[in-house]
Amino acid sequence: HDGAGPHSNKASTIEHGLESISNLSVKFLSKQLIDSQFTGKWEMEQDNAFAICDLGDVYRQYLKWVRHLPRVKPFYGKIKSKCDSGDSGGSKNFFFGIISTATKAFPDPKVIRLLASLGVGFDCASKMEIQKVLHVGVDPNQIIYANPCKQASHIHYSAQKKVYKMTFDNSDELYKIKSFHPHAKLVIRILPNDHSNQKGQLGAKYGATLAAIPRLLCLAKKLSLDVIGVSFHIGVTSKGVQDFVAALSRARAVFDLAESAGYHFSLLDIGGGFYGGRVVQDGLKFEDAAAALGPAIDEYFPENIEVISEPGKFFVDSSVTCFTRIIGRRVIEYDDREPSYMYYLNDGVFGSFMATLFSVKNITPSILVKSGKYHYGEDIEGPLFECSIWGPTCAHDDCIEESAQLPVLNEGDWLYWSNFGAYTNTLASEFNGFSKQKILYTNTFNLHPIIALS
Ligand code: PLP
Repeated sequence: HDGAGPHSNKASTIEHGLESISNLSVKFLSKQLIDSQFTGKWEMEQDNAFAICDLGDVYRQYLKWVRHLPRVKPFYGKIKSKCDSGDSGGSKNFFFGIISTATKAFPDPKVIRLLASLGVGFDCASKMEIQKVLHVGVDPNQIIYANPCKQASHIHYSAQKKVYKMTFDNSDELYKIKSFHPHAKLVIRILPNDHSNQKGQLGAKYGATLAAIPRLLCLAKKLSLDVIGVSFHIGVTSKGVQDFVAALSRARAVFDLAESAGYHFSLLDIGGGFYGGRVVQDGLKFEDAAAALGPAIDEYFPENIEVISEPGKFFVDSSVTCFTRIIGRRVIEYDDREPSYMYYLNDGVFGSFMATLFSVKNITPSILVKSGKYHYGEDIEGPLFECSIWGPTCAHDDCIEESAQLPVLNEGDWLYWSNFGAYTNTLASEFNGFSKQKILYTNTFNLHPIIALS
């Protein structure tokens, strides 16, 4: 890598603000922070939950993407809102030369700057997301306003700021765009398949059916609007590569319908839905998705069609580790069996764990500190006990895990949660007066051989 990403000319506008980033591994940085709590400065609230974002991990994800899906330019999915490589050399220059702070899956300014410096574009859902991205110097052409039902004033703002690409999936939206941004470059968001409109799926909210498309294109033509392509999102929890391939075939059909309506599409946007964690949970592994997607895209779409995507969790999930302290405990005694435990943490579902409410996130804790001893990355031996894990607020439904098996823990012990970047900090509220987690930054890119990244 030449050290500055494919769009190095932009790097100088984007590199400001790379302050307070350590290059310690997450293990050592978290140990430093945990050790500092024993200094007794309680007024500093060192018992608050915190998160560490490894920007090097974001960069590794970028390298992985470029390697496995070179034709598909990633538009970083949603300013909605987690970072091993590095045979130093150019990569070292790159990291010290460029970054700063975060956007939908994890709208963190440093992450936005890093991705922007790599030439990654941005998928924004609102005026504020567009503002955040423009603020770090991103070219408006690198933005797609990918919200099919937009607020009028936000469309007006995007026209003022020369953000042209935007999605739609219904006729009312076309009239609105005609009024506020008549020269927009439109992308029709389609339902990726026939089962994606079920309850709990993204398709229940957005996406035009195949049957509706000729009418929509006809109306767009009548309004003299420029429609340039197709987008879809297979869903946030999609598990099958076949979902992607089916959506591609459907998108091809829409390209053909467009020709009959007098349009010559030039853009395909394959949305998000790619899993990014180092530990792949039950989702679709990126490499597997890419192995099927790459050839399918080439089969359906000739080289002159620009292909973009909107990965959110892919870039950020594995980069963030969350650290929570046990602030309270209740032991439930039984006459006829071992006790069970209720642990109360300093963060919960009204904070960074909100996505667990919607089953969007499937995470399990590991033990960081038990009885004053630090255990990052270690298996803890000993008997396990039934327990439940709760957040700090007084709400009855602030429950992170109803049933888990952990060794006996005490107030003052710490848990950590890996793959915690996507849809965590960005969804957190300050309900009941509990502040959002502080994010600390590190960059481990140089600590591991580059080969380990792929
Ligand atoms: N693009 C759009 C339009 C979305 O609605 C979302 C998520 O809701 C994303 C991209 C990002 O999805 P993911 O994090 O699953 O990649």
